[in-house]
Amino acid sequence: MASWTVVKTFFAPSLLTDQGWCSASVLSVDAEGMISNIAPGASKDCDVSLQGVVIPGMINLHSHAFQRSLVGKTGLRGSGDDSFWSWRQAMYQQVAQLSPEAIEAVSAYCYMELLKGGYTTVAEFHYLHHQKGGVHYANPAETSMRVLTAADAAGIGVTLLPVLYSWAGFGQQPLTEQQLPFRHDLNSYLRLLAQLDQYCENSKLFDWGVAPHSIRAVSESQLQELMVGLAQLNFKGPIHIHIAEQQREVKDCVDYYGASPVRWLLDKLPVNDRWCLIHATHVDSQELKMMRTADVVAGLCPTTEADLGDGIFPASQWQHLGGAWGIGSDSNLCVNATEELRWLEYGQRLQDQQRNLLAAPGQLVGAELYKNALAGGLQALAKPKARGFAVGQRADMLVLDQEHTLFLNKEKDQILDAWIFAGVQDMLSQVWVGGRCVVEAGEHINAGRIETDWRQLLKSK
Ligand SMILES: [Zn+2]
Repeated sequence: MASWTVVKTFFAPSLLTDQGWCSASVLSVDAEGMISNIAPGASKDCDVSLQGVVIPGMINLHSHAFQRSLVGKTGLRGSGDDSFWSWRQAMYQQVAQLSPEAIEAVSAYCYMELLKGGYTTVAEFHYLHHQKGGVHYANPAETSMRVLTAADAAGIGVTLLPVLYSWAGFGQQPLTEQQLPFRHDLNSYLRLLAQLDQYCENSKLFDWGVAPHSIRAVSESQLQELMVGLAQLNFKGPIHIHIAEQQREVKDCVDYYGASPVRWLLDKLPVNDRWCLIHATHVDSQELKMMRTADVVAGLCPTTEADLGDGIFPASQWQHLGGAWGIGSDSNLCVNATEELRWLEYGQRLQDQQRNLLAAPGQLVGAELYKNALAGGLQALAKPKARGFAVGQRADMLVLDQEHTLFLNKEKDQILDAWIFAGVQDMLSQVWVGGRCVVEAGEHINAGRIETDWRQLLKSK
């Protein structure tokens, strides 16, 4: 793993903390890149004086990094209906072409772009474990290690969520040939988790969690046994699952189990605040209340859900209930945090024919979107929730250029509102992860190497 020198003290003229905005603050960072203190102070006493408005980096709670290689390949209208299911065929074709080297190269490129788009941590929902036909690599964790190596090269924090994927559909339907590279049984899956636990043990940049792919791809007995296995490991990390993205999978679930995916899951398993339900798109009011009672995070991926024609999650209803939510870049067609937040709000507006739906009365919607997505994202990683910087977090900072023309005469929440809805790339001047600068003046520090690696792989085809 790359080592780097951590800057110890930062001066921020304007800093978003969990308690609100603070002016003229000093943020102290320990040798491992974690925030040890936040206090009023002066620039002259600090190692680095940040020039602008300083906010925590966004958490990306759902990514499939390799899917960045699908950009530009899924727009051709077929002769029948185009939907999530036809897109999935294109994705499977891409999977078949990816070597471990390619997975690493495209992931590093994607992570570099995510950093430039305002994300400093990514939860990687990683299901591409094996070779074509399901042939195992010599190291069962080969592709997982490639993802971590890519994250290291880009300098982004990653919570790796290896995926348990055993069946093609409800009733333990056998996997298709194209799905064999995803396959794990419970025993091989638990062994993979143990391997990753060792690797991530002493890292502040890497963490891991658990991801049964979906109720259709994992059986009831597997889920129950997984819960027992995790309890024996005293596992306290995050658990993510795809839940109700498509109406077809909801119908199949009702046909097989006699209940929708959300009802079935919450009824059968001890679901709690460490669970993140990805794409709870098709839920009714009663299911939202059940999710709120269980205190889960709703994992929302607005641009992917739009791209795939999934539907619109009732986010304003969910927020009204006090439900936690965060954003993910999912297919990574879009790698920009502000764009996800903007489209989350716009989807609600288009549906409800009202404005500023995801803000409480008296609050600016852009700022509320950012702070709530941050808090929900932290919860989705099983970290303490916060709506700004707090002691104990990794020192992941975004510096917004307060001298940008569109920021002039604005301050605090207005800055966030302008950034999210204007969406201009050069408003974000610096990105820091764990007290190290990874993006300076819009350029990634390892851009040359990361770009060269992926270009060479594309040329070699
Ligand atoms: Zn996904």
